[in-house]
Amino acid sequence: MITSTLFMEHFYILDDGRVRQFLIVGEDQALLIDTGFPDSHVYEAVRKITALPVRVLLTHGDIDHTGGLADFGGCFLHKADWKLVKDPAVHLEPLAEGDTFSCGGYHLKTIEIPGHTYGSVAFFDEEKGLLLSGDSVQKPGPIYLFGGWRNLDLYIESERKLWSLADKVKTILPCHHEYPIGPEYIRYNLEDALSLKEGRLQGERHPVMPCNVYKGSWTEFYYTEQDA
Ligand SMILES: [Zn+2]
Repeated sequence: MITSTLFMEHFYILDDGRVRQFLIVGEDQALLIDTGFPDSHVYEAVRKITALPVRVLLTHGDIDHTGGLADFGGCFLHKADWKLVKDPAVHLEPLAEGDTFSCGGYHLKTIEIPGHTYGSVAFFDEEKGLLLSGDSVQKPGPIYLFGGWRNLDLYIESERKLWSLADKVKTILPCHHEYPIGPEYIRYNLEDALSLKEGRLQGERHPVMPCNVYKGSWTEFYYTEQDA
């Protein structure tokens, strides 16, 4: 069951307790960031708020972000994550660094931040200091970094890239766990990822998933040594 909250003017947060999406309602169209799990039923939640045509942007291609795509027909997604969308009926449009989408007074600029997945992006509204970080900045996580479609070295580089923008960031809205969070979490996630890389965090086997659990000072990661 999705809860919808008007978080700022024209800007809704949809949340089913596992993952959240962001809906911006403009005058003649709406912009949806991410589509939840297949059983999140994001389309129904969007239609309770607006009947306008919806353009869909994806922060990345994991199943908890792409699950409702079939209901919307298509989306903008970074090409490096196209292979993660298995439904051939979904129309994919490329998304790349600098692509900007305007709606309802918001101007979301695409920032490529590979690592959590190779095609991960953030959306940044510089005027409002608003950063939609996908799964790449979180409090406290876990941030998933295990499996062949993820890369810790790239994740570290991407957190450095985001940290270089931190002066202009006021509010970060991640797709999981606590929100809103401040720009200091970019640095916290970066410092903990560096500790993970340098072998300073002790891993414990995850009871169910094929990975270890690593706890940094602020951030939890799911990772395996084989991924290094
Ligand atoms: Zn996710």
